[in-house]
Amino acid sequence: MLRNQEQRIRIGIPRALLFYKFSDLWITYFEELGAEVIISPETTKKIKAEALSLAPDEDCYSTKLYFGHAIALKDKVDYLFVPRFGGRKKNLVGCPKFIGLAEVLRSMVPELPEILMPHYNRGMDKNTRIGLLYKSFKLGKIITKNPFVRIRAIRRAFKAQKLHDKLVVIDEETLSKWEKSEVILNDFPIYAENEKQLKIALVGHSYVLNDPYSSLNIRSILQGYGVDIITSEQMPRKLIEKQMAKLEYDLYFDFEREILGTIMHFLESKTVDGIVHLLIFSCGPDSIAGEIAARFSKRDSAIPLLQLVFDELTAEAGMRTRIEAFVDMLRRSIDDQAILLTMKAHI
Ligand code: SF4
Repeated sequence: MLRNQEQRIRIGIPRALLFYKFSDLWITYFEELGAEVIISPETTKKIKAEALSLAPDEDCYSTKLYFGHAIALKDKVDYLFVPRFGGRKKNLVGCPKFIGLAEVLRSMVPELPEILMPHYNRGMDKNTRIGLLYKSFKLGKIITKNPFVRIRAIRRAFKAQKLHDKLVVIDEETLSKWEKSEVILNDFPIYAENEKQLKIALVGHSYVLNDPYSSLNIRSILQGYGVDIITSEQMPRKLIEKQMAKLEYDLYFDFEREILGTIMHFLESKTVDGIVHLLIFSCGPDSIAGEIAARFSKRDSAIPLLQLVFDELTAEAGMRTRIEAFVDMLRRSIDDQAILLTMKAHI
């Protein structure tokens, strides 16, 4: 591509799926190489409409939205960055959709700019850490031929990702403080004077939890009902792995471990008033984790679990009603327990 010296190569990154996990890594990498990084805007009605008109019907809602974000970048960038991500650990996988998406986009929307689609899968023979570094080094050549700049970009990108993880994932001490209501981890809950503040674990994929449009503003709805939330992506990794070790089988879907591990932890610790689990309709990994979570919840139902399934037809009004009913039910059961305790004290 011929560009004058002043113009920087523009790399487009769709604000969808793994962007919510690896945005700092990717943005730092390309910016350090000297590229201009353009991120698609937050999901809107228009992006959703474009997505639904283009994406295959059988795709999950989150993957469909990716199409809308890619289209939003179509005329603004020189390259689209759509990595094919298999898994970050040897024995774990992400989702098959993450691997096939770049090729599907290329074949279904040929008018898109050239797609950069490096493939990384730690589970495959040649995808060691060194392999990842080599692939990143090779990819950087599109933007600069300077090997030192490319090496520095990789180093800084990994540093940025490490910082991101440190900021998002809390340690066990912070979790314990949150459980005792000594700290607030997310938006301050809004509640009336006579209302008890509730604690809820909000569990789901990072691209649902952090996308207000696709999650139908669930975080601010909960905040408005006086709920203090913790999300599955904030949970200490050691706790997640401790819970996973209790399963009789190996749950090899990497991000589902975070989801199920969080639910198992709170069902066991009983340090929240309830759990809200966001699932995506037609998501294979979600249907497995969702079923296991429901079974665990049936065995020990002290902490109520609400499972909400999202797709492009889910409406905010219906979801709001279910959340409202759930929150009311939690408040009533807390009041009932308080009455029971008072009665016992008087017997
Ligand atoms: S994990 Fe589920 S929601 Fe995420 S991309 Fe795969 S099928 Fe879609």
